[in-house]
Amino acid sequence: MRRTIYDESHDDFRAMVRDFIAKEVVPVHHEWEKAGHPPRDFYRRLGEIGLLGIQVPEEFGGGGEKSLKYNAIVIEETIAAGVMFGSEGVHTNLVLPYLMAYATDEQKKRWLPGFASGDIMTAIAMTEPGTGSDLANIATKAVKSDDGRHYVLNGAKTFITGGALADLVLVVARTSPYDPSDRRGGLSILCVESASEGFSVGKKLEKIGLKSSDTAELAFNDVLVPVENLLGEEGKGFSYLGHNLPQERLVIALSAAAAAEAAVSHAIGYTKERNIFGKPVASFQNTKFVLAECATEAEAARLYADNALELLDAGDLSVADAAKVKLLCTETAGRVIDKCLQLHGGYGYITEFPIARLYADSRVYRIYGGTSEVMKTIISKDIGL
Ligand SMILES: Cc1cc2nc3c(=O)[nH]c(=O)nc-3n(C[C@H](O)[C@H](O)[C@H](O)COP(=O)(O)OP(=O)(O)OC[C@H]3O[C@@H](n4cnc5c(N)ncnc54)[C@H](O)[C@@H]3O)c2cc1C
Repeated sequence: MRRTIYDESHDDFRAMVRDFIAKEVVPVHHEWEKAGHPPRDFYRRLGEIGLLGIQVPEEFGGGGEKSLKYNAIVIEETIAAGVMFGSEGVHTNLVLPYLMAYATDEQKKRWLPGFASGDIMTAIAMTEPGTGSDLANIATKAVKSDDGRHYVLNGAKTFITGGALADLVLVVARTSPYDPSDRRGGLSILCVESASEGFSVGKKLEKIGLKSSDTAELAFNDVLVPVENLLGEEGKGFSYLGHNLPQERLVIALSAAAAAEAAVSHAIGYTKERNIFGKPVASFQNTKFVLAECATEAEAARLYADNALELLDAGDLSVADAAKVKLLCTETAGRVIDKCLQLHGGYGYITEFPIARLYADSRVYRIYGGTSEVMKTIISKDIGL
């Protein structure tokens, strides 16, 4: 079915991104996978060609774009090429909305130019060893110093994308004691410079997929965070998370839709080439039927995600909408990619083949940004259950 959300300027942008990936990323991506992340300078290169600052206002060195569609094109093109730009997606799609919505003018002046140029890479740290789905249970603590000039931060975070190379980390911390009658109160977001004393990066976590994006444990031991680095108002952290999670979930849905489409395309190509019993695998009726189902499901996910993208751009994507689109697209991708892998036989299990990497890379879509089960709790509440 024809897609209707992109115009010519998007097509030109897509061509530029595709060319950049082919020339500057594909040839070296295997090295990044071995290292666990791209070289630090690659982010400056992304800044140079404008990909980090697409949505940063022009006065701070960005492109001033309001729509998320250009970011969506970056997602589609990287997944189609089987590569990642390290933690770029967290930086541009997850962190920027917090800075745009809650940073003061002074903070924007301080951080956004470096954000757009790649000199300041960012991450967001919500999850802790003891809590992921239940963010109201965050235990990392930030207590005001006696002179009122700093927060003293103590605690630990885990699974932080980009945590190993980040210069600035948005840390969700408890600034008032836990109150069981107001579980969501008392959380704040602090922008913590990774160069601060007491900030340490623990082990880089070995994952089954997404090998070129680092995922780290972080620890804070009496880190002094200037009060000027509080984002927004103290105690409002949970509501800020709620405000930004729809975009985070949509971005994962868009990735899942792109992954499902890529899987179908790999399987069509492979099954046409592979001959068994004297004929191409594509000629078996089973292959045709499986791929007909997969192509249809992938397209349905894509169009659902496209529609949600239009709603987000219009400021109209609700928390429940985002949960539905994440649930549908990520579960669809899981099914489609698994079936497409099966059609590759043993080669589908060998990481040299793109379908194998896609299988491993996409598994996390159903987990991070809120698991499928958490999406179902949100949706069931929305339908009055
Ligand atoms: C590769 C990767 C990158 C990540 N990047 C980041 C990042 O940059 N920043 C960050 O803060 N976090 C990040 N995360 C963390 C991620 O968001 C969490 O892993 C996720 O939210 C799940 O939390 P958890 O792992 O603690 O699982 P748990 O919360 O312990 O869940 C365990 C199981 O319980 C189920 N469950 C939970 N609640 C319910 C319920 N109400 N009803 C039924 N079942 C339920 C879950 O669905 C799951 O199956 C990342 C994770 C990964 C794997």
